Amino acid sequence: MIYADNAATTKMSETAVKAMLEVINDNYGNPSSLYSIGQKAKEALEEARADIAGVIGAKPAEILFTSGGSEADNQAIISAAKTGEAAGKRHIISTKIEHHAVLHTLKKLEKEGFEVTLLEVNGDGLVTPEAVRDAIREDTCLVSVMYANNEIGTIEPIREIGAICREKKVPFHVDAVQAIGHIPVNVEEDNIDMLSSSAHKFHGPKGVGFLYVKKGIRLFNLIEGGAQEKGKRAGTENVPGIVAAAAALKEAVANMDKNAAYLTEKREKLIAGLKEISHSALNGHPVKRLPGNVNFCFEGIEGESLLLLLDDKGIQASSGSACTSGSLDPSHVLLAIGRVHDVAHGSLRLSIAEDITDADVDYIIKSVKEVVEYLRGFSPVWRDLVAGKSQFIL
Ligand SMILES: *Cc1c(COP(=O)(O)O)cnc(C)c1O
Repeated sequence: MIYADNAATTKMSETAVKAMLEVINDNYGNPSSLYSIGQKAKEALEEARADIAGVIGAKPAEILFTSGGSEADNQAIISAAKTGEAAGKRHIISTKIEHHAVLHTLKKLEKEGFEVTLLEVNGDGLVTPEAVRDAIREDTCLVSVMYANNEIGTIEPIREIGAICREKKVPFHVDAVQAIGHIPVNVEEDNIDMLSSSAHKFHGPKGVGFLYVKKGIRLFNLIEGGAQEKGKRAGTENVPGIVAAAAALKEAVANMDKNAAYLTEKREKLIAGLKEISHSALNGHPVKRLPGNVNFCFEGIEGESLLLLLDDKGIQASSGSACTSGSLDPSHVLLAIGRVHDVAHGSLRLSIAEDITDADVDYIIKSVKEVVEYLRGFSPVWRDLVAGKSQFIL
């Protein structure tokens, strides 16, 4: 089996599993308890916090643990909105290609009377800093832009956008779920005020994430209860998950350069191979791109059929429309970069991890070529295209 859906989730690293088991077996106290086993858990929790803070250039007190990326996105955006509202500011800027954890939170705020500007991206999926500058108004209370896109892998000019937000004194939130552990991120250098991350995207466990909140930025809680996380996130901390997340992140960062170089080489090989398929196109930026992300559109086929047939061949991948499974809408990201509906439906995302081999890459290329050709063989859409009854787009 070749697992090529690491943008959806990753396998936990052995280091992370080991760290988690140690806590589960030996350090199971409640960090809020005053006796020694509780305090030992508290120490492990604070060590994890310091480790994570160190990796992104933050202070430990600026890291808040959450249940994952979605919760971190929700809390960051809702906090900025409430803070803004209190100052009479009800305008939020974001982009058309954000994760649904951001977009759906913004939709909710719109219903509550906030005005949301979703910036367009170019054909490569890039947001321009100038577009952010032009959109900022007197009443803007938040700019939220993702570090790297989860579908097409495009890496956004976060540092430049952050500099504009600093200049205009507008809080800047970044969904860095796809970036942390994969490419360098530093909240100071990148001018970030709030940042969301999720452990299961960097070989840590599911259900654990963190929110970086720069000192001085006000936070509102989503969950009421005990005084954990300085009263900003009630509920007994997920110590095994948090400790494993810190272990996974330290490991990912220690190996980042090596992994990125390896993955980029395999990515380029995959892209070169898949480009040989006629009427296909790479989605996302050719260079400003996550090391492990490959995303293609193939004209005349359905992404879902492609996925199922690849699964039969032992390849686990994803399609642009899989995220919204149950709905027939193609990916909002592919539409935002200008792919028309029919083309966007025929998409394939391969997100590879460090365990991929050259033989795997060759097998993936061969398999995708076979499956695309097979599906086109009985596709009425493809027949019309070949017969000249409709026009090729790619
Ligand atoms: C996966 C992902 C999320 C959600 O993270 P969870 O931990 O699964 O809630 C948010 N944003 C991006 C860009 C993601 O890839």
